Amino acid sequence: MSNPNRILPYSRQLIEEDDIAAVVDVLKSDYLTQGPVVGRFENALAEYCGAKYAVAFSNGTAALHAAYFAAGIGAGDEIITSPNTFAATANAALYLGAKPVFADIEPDTGNINPAQIEHKINAKTKAIVPIHYGGHPVDIDAISDIARQHSLLVIEDACHAIGAQYKGQKIGAHSDMSVFSFHPVKPITTGEGGAVTTNNPDYYAKLRLFCSHGITKDPALLEKKNAGAWFYEMQILGYNFRITDIQCALGCTQLAKIDRFIEDKKKIVAKYQQAFADDPRIAIPFEKSFARSSWHLVAARLQGALTAKRREIFDALRAAGLWVQVHYIPVYWHPYYRKLGFAPGLCPEAENLYAAEISLPVFPGMTEDETQYVIQTIKDVLARYE
Ligand SMILES: *Cc1c(COP(=O)(O)O)cnc(C)c1O
Repeated sequence: MSNPNRILPYSRQLIEEDDIAAVVDVLKSDYLTQGPVVGRFENALAEYCGAKYAVAFSNGTAALHAAYFAAGIGAGDEIITSPNTFAATANAALYLGAKPVFADIEPDTGNINPAQIEHKINAKTKAIVPIHYGGHPVDIDAISDIARQHSLLVIEDACHAIGAQYKGQKIGAHSDMSVFSFHPVKPITTGEGGAVTTNNPDYYAKLRLFCSHGITKDPALLEKKNAGAWFYEMQILGYNFRITDIQCALGCTQLAKIDRFIEDKKKIVAKYQQAFADDPRIAIPFEKSFARSSWHLVAARLQGALTAKRREIFDALRAAGLWVQVHYIPVYWHPYYRKLGFAPGLCPEAENLYAAEISLPVFPGMTEDETQYVIQTIKDVLARYE
């Protein structure tokens, strides 16, 4: 089978003519930023997720930072999260002087293990931050029960999971807040971008302020009334984490097709599942009965002794034009976290997953020929180890 004429990454964006036209329209308009399209995107996002409010940010990391701030997380507090995530989930706690505490994962989904969360709760714990790894929802009810028993908040890192469903309902309205990223590898893109959804008006007000220097000119919120049409107040120490109208135009057109994107990816995944169903060397992920994944990642796992060959197999797949990746290096393995006192061995299941995992290509617009090329390439590479 011949190499397709493009590199096949583990994920990528699909930009179509209507996306381009929407961006060009904003470029020709009066407002490139702080205009009407930001609100339009926020409303569309809230509606899509079934949440009361959405605030869009310059990226998912800024959105996490804002969500933790709005939750009142600060110096001396702890959040419990998964080590099987991008570093930003934990970093955002450090920005606020709080401490990330890592609870181990379930080996099947790669999601945080509710039983492990319980062991990590203490008087400093403020919030549980589960990650819907690869777009497969965590068992939200199980985590909410633990949070309720211990009066903790739940902030979902849903950066993989826009469009995913838990028990038939879209991710984004189950917990205190849900955080999204629209980086080009994520299910939909705004270039760089992120958002927080919530049903809580107090969190919403804090998110808004935090996003733009802590400044408001909303007459209802001003402490000093009737001070003039120019007047505004800085009420908290916020940041400039604003997204632009240019990005939000892309967000609107992308959001309108997310369900199609996920359907396209689901078909590709079904082919992988079928092709390797009886292959004891590699496991392709499946959805649990309560879950509909957004299929951000196809987190395949090498099995048994083949795990020791992961690097060779990875290199062979890359050499054949598959831009596979490994998700994730346990966050606490990074040198920065080691200096904070974390050490390997903390979360054995996350370390096992890291040793065995390879994220296979899956993205909207991936063709049938490309899918078959991926399958054949994996079969050819694995055949070396029979
Ligand atoms: C991408 C990602 C982030 C950060 O989002 P950015 O938009 O890149 O800042 C945070 N958490 C997870 C799980 C992610 O995948």
